[in-house]
Amino acid sequence: MHGDRYLKDARGLTIPDGSWPSGREAPGALELVRRFCNTTNPETGAELLRTSAELERWLAVEAGVRSTATDADLAAVHALRAAIRALAVANQEAGGRELAAAAFDAAVGDRAASVRLLPEPGLEPHGSPVDAFLVRIAALVYAAHLDGTWRRLKACGHCHWVVYDHSRNASSTWCSRLACGSRVKARAWQQRKRAAGTSVTSSP
Ligand SMILES: [Zn+2]
Repeated sequence: MHGDRYLKDARGLTIPDGSWPSGREAPGALELVRRFCNTTNPETGAELLRTSAELERWLAVEAGVRSTATDADLAAVHALRAAIRALAVANQEAGGRELAAAAFDAAVGDRAASVRLLPEPGLEPHGSPVDAFLVRIAALVYAAHLDGTWRRLKACGHCHWVVYDHSRNASSTWCSRLACGSRVKARAWQQRKRAAGTSVTSSP
């Protein structure tokens, strides 16, 4: 789908690097949330976190978390990721937020953290390393709600790849104009042409 930085998952399905496309990175630590969402490509079905071993590798490389992961961990990670993507879709479509938020709350469950001021202000998550990662991601989503950046983390209106909307009035629709914007416009044009053709032939 996307022009550059192609990867393939273990089954050979295409997925861009989570940081794709350049210029659409989220500010600060929110970028980790975006890259976490982009470990699957809804358009091709590619999945970088298909097994617990793949999850272990991704956590170590991308999040600095060294841990063994169970199948239950994998399911929990998938559930939170799906909920966050649904929230990003809601940010794009201005609907469906409540359902996505309920899924987020359910996915976070009763995982917890302590608020600490030392060695610096932050959260000290409880539980296993994977639980702690999920709390960290959830806390970043919360922090983004507080600082006003959350509404700009959006799923592309066509392929649902998650990008950050840097546009002045937060009105961006596509992951990239080239990858999706022009494709959708071309299809709409084809449909209009076809509809026009039909009305011409069906008119008396
Ligand atoms: Zn797209």
